[in-house]
Amino acid sequence: MPGTSRMPISLRGTLNNVRRRSRAINNPLGLLDLDLIRNIIFFLFLLRWTRRAIWKLKGRGLLGTLAEVYADVRRVLYGWFLRMPGVRAKVRRQIDEALSKVQAKMVPSNATRYLTLPKEGWTEEAVRKELKDLADMDHTRWEDGYVSGAVYHGEDDLLKLQTEAYGKFTVANPIHPDVFPGVRKMEAEVVAMVLNLFNAPPGAAGVSTSGGTESILMACLSARQKAYVERGVTEPEMILPDTAHTAFRKAGEYFKIKVHLVACPAPDYQVDIRRVARLINSNTILLVGSAPNFPHGIMDDISALSKLALKKRLPLHVDCCLGSFLVPFLEKAGFETAPFDFRLKGVTSISCDTHKYGFAPKGNSTVLYRTQALRSYQYFIDPSWSGGVYASPGLAGSRPGALIAACWASLMSVGEVGYLSSCTQIVGTTKKLLAHIRTSPALSPELEILGNPLVSVLAFRAKTLNIYDIADGMSAKGWHLNALQYPPAIHVAVTLPIAKVWERLAADLEAVVEEEKEKERVRLVEGKGAAKGGAEAAGDTAALYGVAGSLPNKSVVVDLAMGFLDLMYKA
Ligand SMILES: *Cc1c(COP(=O)(O)O)cnc(C)c1O
Repeated sequence: MPGTSRMPISLRGTLNNVRRRSRAINNPLGLLDLDLIRNIIFFLFLLRWTRRAIWKLKGRGLLGTLAEVYADVRRVLYGWFLRMPGVRAKVRRQIDEALSKVQAKMVPSNATRYLTLPKEGWTEEAVRKELKDLADMDHTRWEDGYVSGAVYHGEDDLLKLQTEAYGKFTVANPIHPDVFPGVRKMEAEVVAMVLNLFNAPPGAAGVSTSGGTESILMACLSARQKAYVERGVTEPEMILPDTAHTAFRKAGEYFKIKVHLVACPAPDYQVDIRRVARLINSNTILLVGSAPNFPHGIMDDISALSKLALKKRLPLHVDCCLGSFLVPFLEKAGFETAPFDFRLKGVTSISCDTHKYGFAPKGNSTVLYRTQALRSYQYFIDPSWSGGVYASPGLAGSRPGALIAACWASLMSVGEVGYLSSCTQIVGTTKKLLAHIRTSPALSPELEILGNPLVSVLAFRAKTLNIYDIADGMSAKGWHLNALQYPPAIHVAVTLPIAKVWERLAADLEAVVEEEKEKERVRLVEGKGAAKGGAEAAGDTAALYGVAGSLPNKSVVVDLAMGFLDLMYKA
């Protein structure tokens, strides 16, 4: 067809003209022509992809790479399957059913709802009464020690002092240090005290943040900026133990840092250092270890990570969000410990949550840096805004001075002796619970502790029973423990409220394991016809993780979780 063939010919002609002219005018010597440029660009492209392929093979090995490709293919294929017309509608229906059950529990329909401002403001009395009713809503009894983690201190005397501190500084905002000099002083002192706890060298610096997640986000941002400014890294990557808190993956998403996850295999469940080393390349901006991690309460081998970081001249972040005010006291309290803080020369930043075992009210955490320069990489400074020269240390602009005051009050009132004694109580309880699970005739044949937990969290899996049925059994007895995946397990984060009732926890666990064993026996007697879990409906945890664990593509879980988040804002 002449109409279609004419275009390319004329285009080709134009290109040739351009080429001839550019040769004649710009490159009289003919050293550089378009062909050469094209070849160079192609070569660079090839180099880039070859380099990536080599890094991948070096990092994961041939089998590991193939396994990743296989998982990706399965994920994509299963994703297509889920989107097939008949399947999609059915899946959606099941998700909606599950969500309406959650809604029935989470958003009681019998309560009076306030969806617009009251015309006339309520009297103080009315507000007070409603607040009391809200606090008394039916809930898992953290006050009686039924909740893993979540509430770390909870004694009335400290709560009262925190509330007073909060009340004195309700209007305060550290963004205006001249208006609220007291808050500035307290904030600087909180950071100084935490730096001291973690044996920071002279010249070290830190900031306070709204929580562990923000501390981790800031540490990742700082490492990314450092690599960009000092080494020109534009495609940053970081290497995480797969047990590291998911806030690091959030940082990866927010700040466009590629995340490499490294397995933490049995029997010690610490990150595999050799695999970390293999994943390091010239785009690496940060190594990470936890002391301890959230899922299993295991401390990674921070000494080995520190050596590796020094050798490769890379920053190393140690996540002590959970370890917070326990890990610095382990040694003094006479417990087994391992090095984790700035005394290891390779450690460049540490996150520590004052709102966990520091017992400050929620909304308090710190991130510490070995040098002031590292800290300044997380600063935001805008010299040319029409609103004036603007500078803020981190994510937030205005911040609640009241929370800083309450944090400072907590640290000052508990003091070293207080934290040492809570460490003795909390870690001591964890040891007792560990020993009980390992030796009790009812529990030891069935439950297996993951690794060697040194701090306040212990995780266990079941050898033959379904661990999620055990989790649901514990929920039925009023306990709120944490279900884990990969491997399926449960964890308990011991707090002061739990330390008082750990024996009841152990007894209930024994009872639940017995019940589950009995159900298993009945199933066996009834024959193989009754499939596992077929006799009675699975509980919530078993239903969620039983399905989720086996899916090659998690989009159903994502949809469920998204619906859950939406429900949080259902008035
Ligand atoms: C709790 C926790 C965090 C994150 O803390 P948030 O305050 O919930 O944002 C980070 N790392 C570990 C190990 C934690 O346990």
